[in-house]
Amino acid sequence: LTPAELVNLTADAIEADRTTNAYISFDREAALRAAAAADVSSPLAGVPIAVKDNISILGQPTRCASRLLSPYTAPYDATSVRLLKKAGGIPLGRTNMDEFAMGASGENSAYGVTRNPNASDHIPGGSSSGSAAAVAARTAIAALGSDTGGSIRQPAGHCGIVGLKPTYGRVSRYGLVAFASSLDQIGPMAQTVEDAAILLQAISGHDPKDSTSADQPVPDFEAALGKDIKGLKVGIPAEYFTSGNHAGVSEAVRNTVSQLESLGAELVEIRLPHADAVVAAYYIIACAEASSNLSRFDGVRYGQRAQDVNGLMELFSRTREEGFGPEVKRRIILGTYVLSSGYYDAYYSRAQKVRSLVARDFAEAFKKADIIVGPTSPAPAPKIGDSALDHLQTYLADIYTIPANLAGLPAISVPCGSVKEGGAELPIGFQMTAPHFREDLLLKTGFALG
Ligand code: GLN
Repeated sequence: LTPAELVNLTADAIEADRTTNAYISFDREAALRAAAAADVSSPLAGVPIAVKDNISILGQPTRCASRLLSPYTAPYDATSVRLLKKAGGIPLGRTNMDEFAMGASGENSAYGVTRNPNASDHIPGGSSSGSAAAVAARTAIAALGSDTGGSIRQPAGHCGIVGLKPTYGRVSRYGLVAFASSLDQIGPMAQTVEDAAILLQAISGHDPKDSTSADQPVPDFEAALGKDIKGLKVGIPAEYFTSGNHAGVSEAVRNTVSQLESLGAELVEIRLPHADAVVAAYYIIACAEASSNLSRFDGVRYGQRAQDVNGLMELFSRTREEGFGPEVKRRIILGTYVLSSGYYDAYYSRAQKVRSLVARDFAEAFKKADIIVGPTSPAPAPKIGDSALDHLQTYLADIYTIPANLAGLPAISVPCGSVKEGGAELPIGFQMTAPHFREDLLLKTGFALG
């Protein structure tokens, strides 16, 4: 297949898909132009890659699935997109998401809910809902997502695909619209571990344009694939194997742990004593950073501007009132509150202390274990509409994905079976976490699991 044929096949599949709403938009002509220029000897050789709507693509809309940014077009490429193009990949389409990456269901989008291709009345997870749904529905070969508290891994788990959040600093955040800058990472979502490795290879590396980008060598990720995992020490945290997990999830995860054992891995018990505090700490830190990051959306510099206003203050407030959806407003209010004088010490600075303790727990655990495993989420994908009823419950379901973001560690979700629910077959994700810059271990183990 030529790059142009691949682009056309993908674009036809996107047009034929009437179910998932995975794409907010896609530009066949732009992709065909890129295909004509693609170097077929390069690693991605003209493969179209779907890109989440919060990662800038030169000349294309970058709306973060928000009404506020509906008229906005990115004037430059994110570094990850630039590298993707350099490796011969073709960014195709803007995938649906929870507005500004806030959410875990794909329902908080100004462009309609995304549906799980495995069961269309269930959520695909989020916030990278469209990237996950597109890869699972095969309307994308692979995709880029972003992960602040689980937004690559959780939808990957719910949709039955592979999703990897790299080490903080591994992939440049330049051109990613910031949600919580100290937690955000761009990463690959793919049908196979091998594809995830190829995509990660393409987008990794130091970038002077992102001050938090790490000046670390990028290993050959594909070289890690196919190696055996004999003697690999697999950490089993008691805190992740509780009766609070859905029975089907527990069973699928236990089976995968046995599979690791039969491949020669050694199981070691570890403890993550602050696991019960991570959700609270994360939502304080993430909302605090979001309230600051989103202050730039004032109607003057970007996107939509409120009309017929009296003065600047009304321009700011009406633009934000009309432009942001309810979840984004909830987070800005919460973030402003925890940062306000009088509450800062009680909330924000305590959350930062918890964050240090979580990082220390992992450092301790990695003295005994090479990787740490468990479920990606405590339960399979809920039905559309269910999570709208209870925000706190939705936040709590991030319990297993948040720790890697707080500690800046790489983590992957790989498919590990499914559970039957109401006639639907709902995929389960198996999560593995590794020490900083050891994505190779995650890919090697994920590949070994097949
Ligand atoms: N579900 C989490 C949240 O709503 C994670 C989001 C993300 O990783 N972008 O904040």
